Amino acid sequence: MATVNLTIDGNKVQAEAGKTILQVSRENGLNIPAFCNQPFLEPKASCRMCVVEVKGARSLVTACSTPVGEGMEIKTHSDRVDTSRRVILELLLANHATYCPTCHAREKCLLLKYSRRYGVEKVHYFGKKRETEACSDFDSIIERDQAKCILCGKCVEVCRQVIGVEAIDFKNRGFKTQIGTAFDKKLKDTRCINCGQCVNGCPTGAIYVRSDVAAVQKELRDPTRKVIFQTAPSIRAAIGEEFGIPAGTITTGKMVTALRRLGAHKVYQTDFGADLTIMEEGHEFIRRFTANDKIPMFTSCCPAWQKYIEEFYPDLLPNLSSCKSPHQMTGAVIKHHYAEKMGLTKEEVTVVSIMPCSAKKWEITRPGCCTKELADVDYVLTTREFADIIKAQNIDFAKLPDEEFDSVVGQSTGAGEMFAVTGGVMEAALRTVAVKVLKRPLEKVDFMAVRGMKRVKEATIDLDGTKVNILVVSGLANAKPFLDDIRAGKSKYHFIEVMNCPAGCINGGGMPFYEDFAVIQKRYDAIIGDDKGHPIRSSHENPAILELYTDWLKEPNGEMAHHYLHTPYIDRSDVI
Ligand code: SF4
Ligand code: SF4
Ligand code: SF4
Repeated sequence: MATVNLTIDGNKVQAEAGKTILQVSRENGLNIPAFCNQPFLEPKASCRMCVVEVKGARSLVTACSTPVGEGMEIKTHSDRVDTSRRVILELLLANHATYCPTCHAREKCLLLKYSRRYGVEKVHYFGKKRETEACSDFDSIIERDQAKCILCGKCVEVCRQVIGVEAIDFKNRGFKTQIGTAFDKKLKDTRCINCGQCVNGCPTGAIYVRSDVAAVQKELRDPTRKVIFQTAPSIRAAIGEEFGIPAGTITTGKMVTALRRLGAHKVYQTDFGADLTIMEEGHEFIRRFTANDKIPMFTSCCPAWQKYIEEFYPDLLPNLSSCKSPHQMTGAVIKHHYAEKMGLTKEEVTVVSIMPCSAKKWEITRPGCCTKELADVDYVLTTREFADIIKAQNIDFAKLPDEEFDSVVGQSTGAGEMFAVTGGVMEAALRTVAVKVLKRPLEKVDFMAVRGMKRVKEATIDLDGTKVNILVVSGLANAKPFLDDIRAGKSKYHFIEVMNCPAGCINGGGMPFYEDFAVIQKRYDAIIGDDKGHPIRSSHENPAILELYTDWLKEPNGEMAHHYLHTPYIDRSDVI
């Protein structure tokens, strides 16, 4: 690795050549402001907030797009730099509907944060304002409030570069400029896959996820309803951040206690459904691999990925596993099996999933995710909404004692928990597939080849001479070249895991906002550590799952399992 020596704010620094001033400054504890920058995006240098002084340069330079060089002398703050930043902030505020108390930006708003940081107390610019449309006019799970948009374009670039969908773009010119859809369609009528990554990218409250908090509160207050919660594996590694608990702290016990205090009839975990998914998907893979039937097989636990295939690669729909996602499976077994065991009717049960993700809000309305007119899951709350509902009830989350999940849908394995991270579904599947194929226990259940947060990972797994080529992708845009290869008949892979969000659900579109990507590494490490300490680490060893097959489902991929746990897909390629 080539390095360069430079000075930042008077301090000597050694840095990797090729990195930008912004990256190197942040690595050295200097949080230079930036609206349009994001770790996975090509720098656009459009907002100009990150300008710094470089000795010898005539004008200020943008830190996000300027590489560090040998002997550089950089000032990240000075009268000239700070004045420039203040002018940008004042110009943005002069054209902004500043209704902070009712804004969806929550604590993440960089406009507010930077205005305070640079002492902007008064706006000196007045004149014509940008024309904006009414709030909440996307009519979708992802909503738009144009009055809050600062036109940094980060949402557009995230959708294009990270997700590869291009559902939104800049439209019009001058005062009429806006972020919108082609032909002014409602976002729900476009190819948007509801992933919410544009929301995570937005530095203000201009794009946000529709809230279902009020609807869930109503269910909780209705004495005739039995509200059963399930929590996705990723939530335990992130919900604490909303309450001042350091990133990467596992808070499973507090999360369970909080849900009981909200009025939950039962508190279950989606990890159970993840174990069930592995039983179904693992057996489906073994059958298809052995028969060379629709290989490579794709995992199907990410609804954004499901919709992406339906929209852009409908010819590859047969490659997608027919398994519902884990929370849908959990919802189906709660309503159609466990409700009766609890002395309840399935109609009086409300299943609420606490998810990392806005795409799951869309998923519960999929035609295949209702069995006999009854939705598997009634509501999805994102992790952020979960925090909202806890706060609304004056619960001091950080001080809560730890409680356990309810039995039996609270029973799970380390494999189920691994669904939270990129590579985790593949590793969980391999732990079971290998045992079923080899017909003996594994000496080690850790598949290191699929570990880590790299966006693309590949490996060949040797099962006593049978070679299985696997691929793991996160950040949906990274899947496109591999899908094109499959279309062209050039793919060598047998089993492919795809998660929409970079690094997986720990970075989902409904998770607590963060400024520094190091937060995602901490969430990742927390999940990996929790799996390691789990007494049971493989899905086929979960006693509650084995009992479910004995008592009700009979066998993986059997008739009952197909009826309740699998889904058809839809060719949506006619959408423009
Ligand atoms: S985007 Fe930020 S500054 Fe604008 S109303 Fe929302 S919180 Fe306030
Ligand atoms: S939700 Fe995802 S697909 Fe839809 S506009 Fe946002 S980034 Fe694009
Ligand atoms: S990767 Fe996870 S959080 Fe992201 S869209 Fe898919 S299921 Fe949702």
